[in-house]
Amino acid sequence: VSAVEVTQAHLDRIAEVEPKVNAFLHVDPETTLAQARAVDERIAGGERLGPLAGVPVAHKDVFTTTDMPTTAGSKILEGWRPPYDATVTSRLREAGLVILGKTNLDEFAMGSSTENSAYGPTRNPWDLSRIPGGSSGGSSAAVAAYEAPLSTGTDTGGSIRQPAAVTGIVGMKPTYGGSSRYGLIAFASSLDTPGPFARNVLDAALLHEAFSGHDVMDSTSIHAHMPPVVEAARQADIAGLRVGVVKEFGGEGYQPGVLARFHEAVELLESLGAKVVEVSCPSFGYALPAYYLIAPSECSSNLARFDAMRYGLRVGDDGTRSAEEVMSMTRAAGFGPEVKRRIMLGTYALSSGYYDAYYGQAQKVRTLISRDFDAAFHQVDVLVSPTTPTTAFPIGERADDPMAMYLADLCTIPTNLAGNAAISVPCGLADEDGLPVGLQIMAPVLGDDRCYRVGAAVEK
Ligand code: GLN
Repeated sequence: VSAVEVTQAHLDRIAEVEPKVNAFLHVDPETTLAQARAVDERIAGGERLGPLAGVPVAHKDVFTTTDMPTTAGSKILEGWRPPYDATVTSRLREAGLVILGKTNLDEFAMGSSTENSAYGPTRNPWDLSRIPGGSSGGSSAAVAAYEAPLSTGTDTGGSIRQPAAVTGIVGMKPTYGGSSRYGLIAFASSLDTPGPFARNVLDAALLHEAFSGHDVMDSTSIHAHMPPVVEAARQADIAGLRVGVVKEFGGEGYQPGVLARFHEAVELLESLGAKVVEVSCPSFGYALPAYYLIAPSECSSNLARFDAMRYGLRVGDDGTRSAEEVMSMTRAAGFGPEVKRRIMLGTYALSSGYYDAYYGQAQKVRTLISRDFDAAFHQVDVLVSPTTPTTAFPIGERADDPMAMYLADLCTIPTNLAGNAAISVPCGLADEDGLPVGLQIMAPVLGDDRCYRVGAAVEK
């Protein structure tokens, strides 16, 4: 089949289900089909492209794209056309992938349900009354609903793994610095990590490989050999592998159906030849509070650039007001409630007199979490846990309760704080509600291949 045919089939599917799912913020069939025709011509012209040439991909709307708007799910960037492509975008273009559109997200990637989008919530294809996870909920829903075979997301505290888990697909958070942040609209720069979504482990690995690797445009990009993720996904053999079950993740607050599927997955790993032991990571219990100081602190600094002068929205600029008034009116109108909450939290945590007590303390916790991982990876090759404490919750259920919302990332946040790699792969449906459950597999820094190797074994 040609790139045009595959692309057209997905555009048809998008037209059919989008009214129900709302996974996309921007779809432009003309631009997309022009890209597909260009790929077909490159192939006909004898250009040797990678294994994903001609395959369509949907991008989370935080990656800049020169031929489509980029909003980060915020009113403050409505209609903004970026002058350059993100590295993730440009590398996938070079590899011959076709951009299907830009997907919905929690505003500036802050949230776990996609309800914080300024453009309305995305719905979970498994049950339209439930959330598709977040913040990359448009990307997870698009793949789960067969609107896209592949999509990109970003994971700052769980925003790839959690949506993957609750929509029954594969989502990978690569090692921090293994995928470039250039052209990614920043939320918390020391945590933000681009990664892939797909319906199976090998497809995720192929997408991962196509956009990652060193990038001179990102000062935190790792200069090292890429872990062999595709090879690992094909290998899918875990005989003799040492697997640690994180003792701290389970029990109270976890849905019984999630724990049942998780324990079955652990038994499966054992039956495939893995040696399973329980591992304790005592500092993981402090990860959530540390994250909710570090992430908002970095957010308050990063979002200062939305000043009504340089990008998008400008409110109250009628010649009678000062720049400061225009800035304040624009930010009041352009940012949603969760973003404002985070900016205030972060500004407070960074203010003089409080810096050491909050931000400094959180950084210390971050070190303790890294040490827990180091100690654990001395004993075992990978750690496993449920990806999320519960399955997809109903839209609206946690919308007015930020603390309940933050709990969705209980199991995913330690990995972000330590910068290592982790994947979520489907491991069945919960008995209570018939909704998908995710198994999280965590590996050391630059051990991304282990996530794929174990993930592929579970999938088989
Ligand atoms: N849900 C978390 C938050 O709201 C994580 C978000 C993310 O990974 N982008 O910060």
